[in-house]
Amino acid sequence: MLVLVTGGMGYIGSHTCIQMIEAGMTPIIFDNLYNSKSSVLDRIEEVSGQRPIFVEGDVRNKADLDKVFSQYDIESVIHFAGLKAVGESVAMPLEYYDTNVNGSYVLTAAMRDAGVKSLVFSSSATVYGDPASVPILESFPTSATNPYGRSKLIIEECLTDFQKVNPDWSITLLRYFNPVGSHPSGRLGEDPQGIPNNLMPFVSQVAVGRREFLSVFGSDYPTVDGTGVRDYIHVMDLSDGHLAALNHVGKKAGLHIYNLGTGNGNSVLEMVAAFEKASGKPVPYKLVERRPGDIAECWADPAKAKADLKWQATRTLDDMTQDTWRWQSNNPNGYPEV
Ligand code: NAD
Ligand code: UDP
Repeated sequence: MLVLVTGGMGYIGSHTCIQMIEAGMTPIIFDNLYNSKSSVLDRIEEVSGQRPIFVEGDVRNKADLDKVFSQYDIESVIHFAGLKAVGESVAMPLEYYDTNVNGSYVLTAAMRDAGVKSLVFSSSATVYGDPASVPILESFPTSATNPYGRSKLIIEECLTDFQKVNPDWSITLLRYFNPVGSHPSGRLGEDPQGIPNNLMPFVSQVAVGRREFLSVFGSDYPTVDGTGVRDYIHVMDLSDGHLAALNHVGKKAGLHIYNLGTGNGNSVLEMVAAFEKASGKPVPYKLVERRPGDIAECWADPAKAKADLKWQATRTLDDMTQDTWRWQSNNPNGYPEV
């Protein structure tokens, strides 16, 4: 089974490619290396025993995509490629709408022209905005508070409109909660460029000595200890969720929407304590102001994915922190430049 994986050199895409290879699928990675390094390919090969086909290209460039679709007999597409930093999206909205919305539009048009009718799209729990209650069901109302979230929402709506008039297509919107962790080998992981925006990469860089302390954004939320609560999901579980989606609904015509989360919430301070335990290193922190746009708490109801995709997260919080630490301590500066 040949699957085009846009953004397959990135954090979630690279882990998904390993799981695909191990399941006997053949990923073809399509990535412009905007936020990834080509040495990721060496690591995928080292861990899985197979070097994936890699095509350097931009999802906004239809000619690049047309070429790949004409060259290979592709059955399905997993679309990870995109920009993902909320703060950056506020500063650079046009770049976000161009890469995320326009990129998804061009990709879908190239699929249509090539007759490929199975698409799995990386969406996010951010489309639920500030939910009225938790856990969050797929049927909850959607909204956006920043250009990144709005780009995901617009893509979801475009794909929904498109699927309505193309009822033979299978389009799956996977709404990820908070992906963390690394491949258990310690050879692949999250390698953010510059100052990490997300909690766990920041915490691990403090533990490894790259940064002095963590700023905990807000300590007066109505939560267990006043800090924000999120549904952290191991990237290997998230990756498995894509295989489950391909296997169970990838050939089933329709618009399919699933939460990929664990169903549990943990606070920032709980994550810090779990990380200190896994690493044996102190993680100094300071309680600071809330980060604008953040919500108090958010976790998934993952029952729909369990019922339909026969998938559920199995890795524990200790797995998430131990695997993150293995990656960070073995690769303190991330992937090597080639
Ligand atoms: P990532 O930045 O590690 O990976 C994205 C990949 O896409 C990178 O390799 C990058 O080079 C590539 N890319 C960017 N623009 C491109 C373009 N125009 N053409 C081709 N390739 C391009 O990000 P990730 O964490 O692996 O996220 C993957 C997807 O999941 C994104 O769509 C993101 O919005 C979504 N998502 C991520 C999170 C998270 O917390 N990591 C949460 C929810 C949803
Ligand atoms: N957070 C924090 N300090 C940081 C980064 C994040 O306290 O340096 C908190 C943030 O306020 C939220 C949680 O950690 O409560 C998860 O944030 P992240 O940016 O990783 O994911 P989000 O849920 O915002 O997409």
